[in-house]
Amino acid sequence: MEVCYQLPVLPLDRPVPKHVLSRRGAISFSSSSSLFGAPDPRQLSQRRGAISYDSSDQTALYIRMLARLGCGSTSASSAPERRVHRLLSFQRYLHSSRLLRGVPQQIPLHILDEDYTGQARCMLEKVGNWNFDIFLFDRLTNGNSLITLTFHLLNQYGLVELYQLDMVKLWRFLVMVQEDYHSDNPYHNAIHAADVTQAMYCYMREPMLAKSLTSRDILLGLLAAATHDLDHPGVNQPFLIKTDHYLATLYRNTSVLENHHWKSAVGLLRETGLFSHLPAEDSLNMERELGSLILATDISRQNDYLSKFRLHLDQENLCLSNASHRHFLLQMALKCADICNPCRPWELSKQWSEKVTKEFFQQGDIEKKHKLEVSPLCDRVANTVGNIQMGFMTYVAEPLFAEWARFSDTRLSQTMLGHMGLNKASWSGLQQEQTSVTEEVEPSTTGTDVEDAAARKDGNTGGTSSKEIPQGSRES
Ligand SMILES: [Zn+2]
Repeated sequence: MEVCYQLPVLPLDRPVPKHVLSRRGAISFSSSSSLFGAPDPRQLSQRRGAISYDSSDQTALYIRMLARLGCGSTSASSAPERRVHRLLSFQRYLHSSRLLRGVPQQIPLHILDEDYTGQARCMLEKVGNWNFDIFLFDRLTNGNSLITLTFHLLNQYGLVELYQLDMVKLWRFLVMVQEDYHSDNPYHNAIHAADVTQAMYCYMREPMLAKSLTSRDILLGLLAAATHDLDHPGVNQPFLIKTDHYLATLYRNTSVLENHHWKSAVGLLRETGLFSHLPAEDSLNMERELGSLILATDISRQNDYLSKFRLHLDQENLCLSNASHRHFLLQMALKCADICNPCRPWELSKQWSEKVTKEFFQQGDIEKKHKLEVSPLCDRVANTVGNIQMGFMTYVAEPLFAEWARFSDTRLSQTMLGHMGLNKASWSGLQQEQTSVTEEVEPSTTGTDVEDAAARKDGNTGGTSSKEIPQGSRES
């Protein structure tokens, strides 16, 4: 289907940091708030769980904006209309950020240059390429890669039309999804979600899946990818458990983060009413299947999924006309998409590795500060990016992608395995360089094998398993 819409034009300011938009005791604002005037404090109300607004004005303004999105014209509107559109397209962001920071509402001075949207549009023409640079795309869309990419893919598949999704509701939903990712997380932020969504798209285009997935499967696959880490706090499950976080209690210490991501996604679906026009039973089934996909990203359950996948492949009994088998393959595809960083070209993979390590180490710093036991891989003194990556590739990523390549023996699968091999060699080389430097300073460390040393540093003297990778790290 030909894509017929204009890329959203958004203000240049970065999305408001998550510490400003605290999810707990978050704020909703009511319909009579002035769009540009100072907010009335009486209109603020405390609400746990989501940031929302309920404004008939808001809806009307979104309709005006989306009328332009649907027409496909990039030049018909006058400058003043464009300006209004740009202001209102990210109303939620403007309103909430200025409101909470106590900054008077202003018209943003910096508007995204047409050249940027043009380049972003060009990138979307190659959105199925495995070397798609999500970091560049995020810059070109002014930090709105998740909204733009997901909106594009849903349109490209014709899902908006097929499911008669209300464009106003869809836009609100995507804006809220992106906003509910924590932009101050080094790794688990909206760019990671956009990256996973792009990878999921690549996998769903693979011949084995493309010929059998239904539109419903694709809709769920894209929505699950976009929301799979929603409201991730930037720390893993063991941290939430040992600090008696309310989420750990709520979900009884089981797939705590994944349950929260799922429930957060359901909350936004209901808040925006995206599926409210569907029969209640269909809507509930969609929510349930969305949960099943998101829960599959719990890395601590990797072996369960991998064993089941391996058994199916050994017995050659996967039947793609069977809905439950297709659902299982979507789960596997999402798991692959979630941890595909080692399979990307080095320039991209390296950035992801540094980001996830930064998030680990930030957690470790907090644990040290509060005299808690430092979680595995989170101690910046005992670990390096390289040893974490090599362990992750060896024990988690390689087994998964080897099975995926058995299922889908394509050029993409071979490309991914090829990148992973090269990336592992690169990290090993860097590790050896570091070891050499260390040896010059500390001769006593000579003669250690890089991976053995990594295992010892992690306290894993043998038999390291995927379960020892912190939950909530890569996963989730
Ligand atoms: Zn993830």
